[in-house]
Amino acid sequence: MAQRGVRRAVVIGGGIAGPVLGMFLRRIGVEVTIFEARAAPAEQEGAFLGIAPNGMNVLAELGIAGVVEARGAPCAGMRFENARGRRVGVIDQRDAARRFGAGLVMIRRGALHAALAEEAARRGVAIRYGARLEDVDASDPREVVARLRGGDEARGDVLIGCDGFRSRTRVSALPGAPEPGYTGLIDFGGFARCPGAPVEPGWNVMVFGRRAFFGAFGAPGGEVWWFHNSGEPAPEPGRAAPPGAPGGAATSEALRERILAQHEGDPGWIGDVVRATPEVLGPWLLHDILTMPRWHDGRVCLIGDAAHATTPHAGQGASLAMEDGMLLARCLRDEPEPEQAFAAFERLRRPRVEAIVRQARRQGSNKAVSGPVAGWLRDRALPLFLRIGAAAQARVHAYRIDWEERAA
Ligand SMILES: Cc1cc2nc3c(=O)[nH]c(=O)nc-3n(C[C@H](O)[C@H](O)[C@H](O)COP(=O)(O)OP(=O)(O)OC[C@H]3O[C@@H](n4cnc5c(N)ncnc54)[C@H](O)[C@@H]3O)c2cc1C
Repeated sequence: MAQRGVRRAVVIGGGIAGPVLGMFLRRIGVEVTIFEARAAPAEQEGAFLGIAPNGMNVLAELGIAGVVEARGAPCAGMRFENARGRRVGVIDQRDAARRFGAGLVMIRRGALHAALAEEAARRGVAIRYGARLEDVDASDPREVVARLRGGDEARGDVLIGCDGFRSRTRVSALPGAPEPGYTGLIDFGGFARCPGAPVEPGWNVMVFGRRAFFGAFGAPGGEVWWFHNSGEPAPEPGRAAPPGAPGGAATSEALRERILAQHEGDPGWIGDVVRATPEVLGPWLLHDILTMPRWHDGRVCLIGDAAHATTPHAGQGASLAMEDGMLLARCLRDEPEPEQAFAAFERLRRPRVEAIVRQARRQGSNKAVSGPVAGWLRDRALPLFLRIGAAAQARVHAYRIDWEERAA
């Protein structure tokens, strides 16, 4: 059970880290309230993501891996192609359950949010929607106060910021912490019905195009779930952005035209998929935080993207957020006071997550090339790059947290 230091936890953000942390905290007897800025559960929000074996193992420890699998789809692996449609590498995930204890699951973001929120509520986690944190008051050494938009307050023995890469908790409680940096790549996505596309059910086809990168997953029921990454200069403050660019006019038609232009000369099915998409989603400007001096101060701690935002290229942001939730709860179980628990958490987590954030950044750098010569050089290096990437990915997937182990 929880030690004397922590009975009530205020959790800011009900995305991925928040509900997972909440469920583990309930397990050690902590009263948990999640304050989520969105007005209601976001069942239709966003595109899709992959939960890696290391994340699925966290969900298995909570007993909800099956619930999430049922709302998503197993992924057999990834096939990589160059701009001429030639195969340059394969990562086969079909034996992931034997190697890592769990497989890779693709799921729509809204479906994942709904599953986590429902399971958290079932375990006694209170979730308040429409509750946006404005400030953290940590002046009283005995408790911490969250000040919410509209004037409400919430008090707890600890406050955990799970509020994503633009974390208000970080700005308020850790002044001077670095802002996330823009990596120069943007992301679009969508869901299409495109029966002619050569995307086998259960497989991800990843194309290193002439100018941009395209990924397509063969989802159950014949849908293609896709994303596109391309290079984009940082938006200039005060200058109007072109249609389809971040900050510019964002009709689906403008976005579609922009993506199609980036894939001119790439395998024709990419254009077919993009044209068959009723609504193009995005753009998301991809940011990361390579390192932060501290993740905690007094009774406040950051986890997930708030502490170590990562780009999606390693497919790990959600899984790391889940690992964080499990490990922080274990530290709060085993350390007598919050500050000691937070220090133990940061010491145990930092080397792993920072290495993965750097790895994701490196993987992204191959996705957009500046011209034909750079493209030719990149394509020559791809098979080796993919072999090294697959070995690194296997090490990341093999990581397991033992709930029974003592934190210190
Ligand atoms: C396009 C894209 C594709 C991705 N694909 C993958 C993938 O395939 N695999 C993967 O593992 N990761 C992927 N990621 C990364 C992954 O989505 C994040 O790492 C993950 O969502 C982090 O979880 P989190 O709970 O820390 O933050 P979030 O999921 O961002 O949740 C933060 C929550 O806090 C709420 N919030 C924000 N501010 C406040 C406030 N002031 N008060 C109250 N609530 C607040 C937000 O509404 C949100 O619900 C992708 C990211 C992007 C952008």
